[in-house]
Amino acid sequence: MIGFGYDIHRLAPGESLIIGGVHFPDSPVGTVAHSDGDVLVHAIIDALLGAKALGDIGAHFPDTDPQHKNASSIELLRKVAKMIEGTGARIVNIDSTVVLERPKLLASIGAMRKNVAEALGLDITKISVKATTSERIGFVGREEGIAAYAVCQLQSE
Ligand code: MG
Repeated sequence: MIGFGYDIHRLAPGESLIIGGVHFPDSPVGTVAHSDGDVLVHAIIDALLGAKALGDIGAHFPDTDPQHKNASSIELLRKVAKMIEGTGARIVNIDSTVVLERPKLLASIGAMRKNVAEALGLDITKISVKATTSERIGFVGREEGIAAYAVCQLQSE
């Protein structure tokens, strides 16, 4: 099975920026969100849920639930990994792309892959994270927001 996930978050000053479980304390802007606003992990969660037609992140972790206020998205990813495991499927691989103008993510890609791989109990070689800018075009280009896309492949045991 394949799954696809997409997420965006608005960027604003005074918010923290966490991508793939990596915190960027020097960023002048961060994501506006009920949870920790980790756009990459949210896209990956939706890809995993989508592969098994299990709905979306909002259905499982509603932003109206105070329990999920500032929730660690990596922790939510761990829960989703258990859900997938419960269906008898295993994750073959995940590919993802984060779209933002800054900061440059290249130096942090390894840490993001490690965070996601650990949460899913997978080898880091199964997790791909890429980054691109929006060439200063559109809402990402204007630094109003950040977006992420993810796909995954699952195999039934
Ligand atoms: Mg989100």
